[in-house]
Formats: sequence, C-alpha cells, structure tokens
Amino acid sequence: MNEYDSNRIADLLSTIDYKRIEEVEKADCFIFNTCHIREKATQKVYSDIGKIKKILRDKQSKPLFVLAGCVAQAESSMVFEKSDFVDIVVGPQAYHKLPELIKNYQSNKTKSFNTNLDVSDKFDSLENYKNISSKVSSFITIQEGCDKFCKFCVVPYTRGPEFSRCPDQIYNEVQGLVDSGTREIILLGQNVSSYKNKDTNLSRLIEKVSCIKKLERIRFTTSHPNDFDEDLINAFKYQDKLMPQLHLPVQSGSNKILESMNRKHTREFYLKLIDKFRDIKKDIEFSSDFIVGYPGETEKDFEDTLDLVDKVKFSNSYSFVYSQRPGTPAVDFDQIPKEVSANRLQILQNKLFDLQRKFNDSKVNSKTKVLVENITKKGNQFFGRNEYMQPVFIEGNKCTPGQIEIIEVKSSNRHNLWGTVDSN
Ligand code: SF4
Repeated sequence: MNEYDSNRIADLLSTIDYKRIEEVEKADCFIFNTCHIREKATQKVYSDIGKIKKILRDKQSKPLFVLAGCVAQAESSMVFEKSDFVDIVVGPQAYHKLPELIKNYQSNKTKSFNTNLDVSDKFDSLENYKNISSKVSSFITIQEGCDKFCKFCVVPYTRGPEFSRCPDQIYNEVQGLVDSGTREIILLGQNVSSYKNKDTNLSRLIEKVSCIKKLERIRFTTSHPNDFDEDLINAFKYQDKLMPQLHLPVQSGSNKILESMNRKHTREFYLKLIDKFRDIKKDIEFSSDFIVGYPGETEKDFEDTLDLVDKVKFSNSYSFVYSQRPGTPAVDFDQIPKEVSANRLQILQNKLFDLQRKFNDSKVNSKTKVLVENITKKGNQFFGRNEYMQPVFIEGNKCTPGQIEIIEVKSSNRHNLWGTVDSN
C-alpha cells in the first residue's frame, strides 16, 4: 500500500512542478513514506533522517523534508521535537493535502502537520489527479483501515476505521491504468475482503472491473479469513481474470493463540475455508502470514502451527517473530524469551521454504502462463509472473511487456523459475 501511496504522492506533486529524481544530492525535497508495522520502525526513520543530513551537509540550502506514512501518523507533532530537519508531517489519510502544505511552507516557512484520519476526503481529492504510475502490474487501493483490532496490530490506530472506496471511482482509475499499459491489477486493502460500498462487495467489484477490456489479471490482498462469503469464494470459480492464488493470513495454528490475538476464528474454521476453495477450484494455491513467539505461545501451540502448515501446504509465506507494537494490547502480555522465538522461527521457516521450493520445482518441465513485465537489467532476459505470482525469467526469446506468453519451465530454485517461450 505504501508503494501505491508513494506513487500517488508523486502524481500530486507533479502538479506543483516537482518530479522524481534518482540522485539524492540533487533533491530539493525529500519525502519519507514510512511503515510502522514492525518494531524499531520509528528509530529507523530518525536514523535514516540522520543519514540524509550527513549526505547533504555541504549543501548550501536545506531541502524541504516531509515525513509521511504510518510513523508520521503515530508520532504526529512529536516529530518536530525529535528532529529539527523535518518540515512537514503528514499521515497516510492526509497526503492529498501535500501540495497545499508545501506551498504554505514555501511562503511562510512555518512547520506544519496533518494527521487527520478522514479517508473519504483523500480519495475524493485523488480522483482529480490521474494515476500516472502505471506498470504492467499495478496496485490500486480500494479499501483502507481496519475494525478488527487484532491485539498485536497497529493498523486500526495508524490507518483508522474501515473505509471502502466508491466502485465507480475504482473502475475509472483501473480503466486509466489499463489505458496506460496496465494488464494486471492488485486490489489493495488492509482488510480487502471486507470491502463494501453500498451494495457492492468485493466479488461484485471484481465482476465490475473484469469487464475492462485488455485487463488480463486481477488479484487482491490482504484478506481476513472471516470475510469470505459464498460469492467471494465462488469468484475464484467464475471470474476468469481472478488468479488462482490467494494470500490468506492465519498468523497461528493454535486456537488458544488465535483467541488471545483476537483473530475471531479457529484453526478448524481456517482449514474448512481452505477446503471450500479447493472444492471449487482444484488448482488454487495459498500463501499466508505467521507470527511466532506471540505471548503465551507454548511448544504445543507452536506444534499446532507446524501441523497447520503441513495440512495446507502453502506455496509461499511470510513469517516473523512477534514484534511488540506500542499502543497495542499484546505489549502488556507476558513475553516469551527471544531465543525461544528465534529458534521457532527457524524451524517454521525451514518448513515453509521447503514447501516453496517443492512448489517451484513442481513447475519444471511444464508450461506456465507468464505476464511479461519488463526486460531485466542484464538486457538478455525478460521478467514476468505466472498465475501463482511465481517470478519467471525468460531466456533466449524476445518478449513484449504486457503480453502473456506460454513458458516452458526449464529450472527453478526457491525463489524463481527460468524458462523459454513455448515453441509449439
Ligand atoms: S485484521 Fe489485519 S489489519 Fe486488522 S488488526 Fe488484524 S492484522 Fe491488523
């Protein structure tokens, strides 16, 4: 989502004659768009500001410095007490105000912050600015915020309550992206599967945007298991453009831990949901998120997580040691020793990586449909992704970005596949 936000900030600032550049030393304005999901994010921001200051120490005039994103939201005006280098602080729901905030700063040199959480105002304003950051595969935010309040998570506090954008606004933005070359869209939301705007839910929205000609592929992320109704499950059967890969965070395989996390679902519910998907779509694959070492996690709880992984056989996953986030309830729970968590993470990752490797290897000597995204920096390979989001390098053939090619997979490792265009 921060990638989408950063692109939209660039779109906005192009209207007041700012443009992106690569050379740090030449920049007149810096914007740090920050993430607050992991511990130490705040310290990292201040240390990165220090690095920029050092690089620019010989510059005659100080560049404008904007702190944006979820660290900005959490720290708000405290930022000015911690760093005199920052001029403007803007939260994730207020960045559409940046042109105005920058102009004000330029005329009166007064520092300011805006951490308003009114998200509807943001999307209504953004509608007036064309999304010019299109790529073959583009992100589009359709939903923000969260009302679920998992006890480890900062999102409800930094992104605010759930908000779903108007479907027509989304349709128009996707159409604009497709007109500029996008062939795949990834619908984004902190709780994307809870998308609901009047009588349009996520399955209806998928149906609506799938009517856009030249849009080849649709994905969505990130979902909560409790938000899948029959329509959304069946979308994987009936919507041809919806890819057969779903990121479905479970966090833990232990009912006791799921309850303590306030996830409001059980492992049985999760496994049943996976079965439902597999019943209607045999070739669907799943990825997930895991937290290990959550307060109160015993060896038995951890084994339940390993067991769930064995049952689902995820094709790809993200796993982390539990990270204490200030302001969330789990901070006050009894923590478990760091070395125990680190050891469990290693065991879990060995299992997840092994599954990922096996899934990639299973594609060797078969054909896979790849949406070509770009030529690689080496200049002799093309890069794209197949239906399962597996990165594929195409060697020895000339391809056109934006086209779907049938690739014969020749080799693989845990991360990537390599192949050539099918000659038949
Ligand atoms: S559902 Fe997701 S975004 Fe919402 S509180 Fe839980 S982990 Fe955070």
